[in-house]
Amino acid sequence: MKNTRDDFPKTVREQLAKRVGFICSRPECRTSTSGPNSTEGKATILGEAAHITAAAPGGPRHDKLLSNEQRSSIMNAIWLCSNCATLIDKDANRHPVELLRQWKKEAENAAERNLGKALSHHLPRSALVAIDVHYATIARTQERHEYSLVVNMSCRGSIAPEGTLQIIWPDFLPFRIVGIPERQAITKTTFNDEAYHSISVKTPSLLPDTPHQLLGKQTPIRISYHVDEWIYRDHIRKFSDDKEVLRYRLFLGDHSATEGGLSITALQNF
Ligand SMILES: [Zn+2]
Repeated sequence: MKNTRDDFPKTVREQLAKRVGFICSRPECRTSTSGPNSTEGKATILGEAAHITAAAPGGPRHDKLLSNEQRSSIMNAIWLCSNCATLIDKDANRHPVELLRQWKKEAENAAERNLGKALSHHLPRSALVAIDVHYATIARTQERHEYSLVVNMSCRGSIAPEGTLQIIWPDFLPFRIVGIPERQAITKTTFNDEAYHSISVKTPSLLPDTPHQLLGKQTPIRISYHVDEWIYRDHIRKFSDDKEVLRYRLFLGDHSATEGGLSITALQNF
């Protein structure tokens, strides 16, 4: 009897899985589908090559116009975990061909981006964005020193989460803030004697497609401030203080991911 199912050959199944890094292609799932078996020399695979259009007549999304070769080719396959493979066939109306092709394309694109890079979802969020805060001297005269607080961020994973940077600039600091970032959304809140500068860091500026790049080189956040002679003389004792006075925190999602602080001596070079 002729087998009427156009199943995928082993090579197709293997190539399909490798092309998405053995990760389920359904965007809401992204489950890892491959791991070691307790028997050495064997692997446990929880995924399968699912048919975009069914292998046999009457099956989900069956396309009678396809040849047997087309139906069993990699073009007609999508790598899914066992749950998602069941889901797309049980509710075929909600999972049309175009949607599955879109999932497949996106999963392969993601695998391409991740190739050779640290996987974001395997890294703690705090490891995804590195932050460096320092000052740069803009101008120095006898009467007045001008500085910029420079915030550089770099993304380590393949996907940079959206974040909010909070700079807690206490009002007791003997510095005058003269300029705030133009392009970033910035809000200032004063609570007791502390000024909170909250800067929203948008995902596009974190360049999700180009990890390991020092983003700050392109878009550093700069806050200009100055100290004049009068301020300096008035606060001379504070200027030798090496305690942390300025605090910064980068929130990624719900997590307080990265934080640090700078002392007065780390904010100026009198
Ligand atoms: Zn899945």
